[in-house]
Amino acid sequence: MITAYLTHPECHRHHMGPEHPESPMRLEAIHARLMRAGLLQQTMQGDAPAATDEQLTRVHPPHHLQSLQACVPEHGMVLLEDDTLMNAHSLQAARHAAGAVVSGVDRVYRHQADNVFCAVRPPGHHAERDLAMGFCFFNNVAVGAAHARQRYGAQRVAILDFDVHQCNGTIDIFRDDPEVLVCTSFQSPFYPWRHLSTDAPNIINTPLPAGTDGPTWRRAIERDWLPALDDFAPQIVLISAGFDAHRDDPLAECCLDDADYYWITRLALDVAARHAEHRLVSVLEGGYDLPALGRGVEAHLKALMGLPLD
Ligand SMILES: [Zn+2]
Repeated sequence: MITAYLTHPECHRHHMGPEHPESPMRLEAIHARLMRAGLLQQTMQGDAPAATDEQLTRVHPPHHLQSLQACVPEHGMVLLEDDTLMNAHSLQAARHAAGAVVSGVDRVYRHQADNVFCAVRPPGHHAERDLAMGFCFFNNVAVGAAHARQRYGAQRVAILDFDVHQCNGTIDIFRDDPEVLVCTSFQSPFYPWRHLSTDAPNIINTPLPAGTDGPTWRRAIERDWLPALDDFAPQIVLISAGFDAHRDDPLAECCLDDADYYWITRLALDVAARHAEHRLVSVLEGGYDLPALGRGVEAHLKALMGLPLD
């Protein structure tokens, strides 16, 4: 298997202050862990291009781009919303984060890679059509889905989101869109407190009480996601890969382990193999305990690369 690993230096320059959990150290922890495991050297490493206005405005109205651009400070940081801040590099980092998924989609459709992991930040799944929130500016996975439709004529795109927070942004963008199936497992009741009970037919919500462990979560995924995915038969599988449902994560109260991330990745690969000629692109969302994040991404990558977990 050829797994492409896409990132960009700008993604390290966006920061929201020394106390903020969504920090550049997250990417450094992932990089260090993958290097130590000898995995990064086995991937096809590439630079994530910046998404263009045309690619971003497939899911965000132009006024969202303009109002964010108007906020970019020359120095220091500005507060956009509760806990989402912007420095001079944030918007450029967000363009590379979205552009990574666009490039990932290109690579799998052009057979330049079997699958792709985008090690980027800021994350994207809380960004709604015209609202930056929850550490997110542009909805990276949604920009990738729109690219698959526009550029390659995909008529069935599946988005699997196993971040501990529900993907309100992705739902806001694709609710009632029959060409996109969104499967999301999340701690509930919990942030983002929006769209949590959306009953659109293309949204598969798997709410989990605090304390949910791996076996319970796996059963819920098999019960809720698998039949919907096999019915839908996606032409490409996109993953919003958040690692904050891990038992060590400080921002939530679910209890997944490293092996659960290997398991869900295998499940997604199997769906992509059955229906989508193996096309699969994954993008980093949350995950705030640095050692657990590194191990979670390692497990995810091992599955993508067709390697055993241990
Ligand atoms: Zn999250």
